[in-house]
Amino acid sequence: MPVQMKRTDAALEYMLEKAAAFHGHLCPGTVIGTRMALAGLREIEITDPKGSQKKDFMVYIETDRCPVDAISVVTGARISRKNLKFLDWGKVAATFVNLKSGKAIRITCPDSTRNLADDYVDGEYGDDKDGRKAKEVEAYKVMPEKELFIIHHVKVDLPDFTREKYKVKCEGCGETVNDHKEVLIGGKIMCKSCGEGKNYYKEGKSAG
Ligand SMILES: [Zn+2]
Ligand SMILES: [Zn+2]
Repeated sequence: MPVQMKRTDAALEYMLEKAAAFHGHLCPGTVIGTRMALAGLREIEITDPKGSQKKDFMVYIETDRCPVDAISVVTGARISRKNLKFLDWGKVAATFVNLKSGKAIRITCPDSTRNLADDYVDGEYGDDKDGRKAKEVEAYKVMPEKELFIIHHVKVDLPDFTREKYKVKCEGCGETVNDHKEVLIGGKIMCKSCGEGKNYYKEGKSAG
């Protein structure tokens, strides 16, 4: 068994267990996401994210990799609750916003973090992919936050939180667009796929 240099705190271990259970495994990304969420909530002064303060904050996540599950589990934020905004930007970064105070902080995990893993674990890990991952998991648990993350204050233009029902018909495809997600292009009300060409599919039968 590899020897850990420092003990991790109980709150982190508890959250890691929950995040790993939801995600399916304990991986470096789960540790990063869990610590990112704990740091984010702390910085914006949210202490009861799943109870009395569940409507008081918003999380923006810029990756679709492993950390996203941990951030969702720890904060309780969900896309369906409208307090989790997913941005497919391929960055290990998340922004936490306190909707009452307006305080917002963005946390990123720089590439340099990986190179520091060796400094924080002791003992034998294999040189293969699994060994490397196991080492990173243990290292990220104990690495000081200032080595793991860059945390900075930001300002966020928040979306409209109106809950009243609103829908329009796209003048391009005729489909219904809910919740003010339409765009106005050349005087026409359109869905984003028609108006901005942001389509991810083409009409037709798929092969096979
Ligand atoms: Zn994973
Ligand atoms: Zn359309």
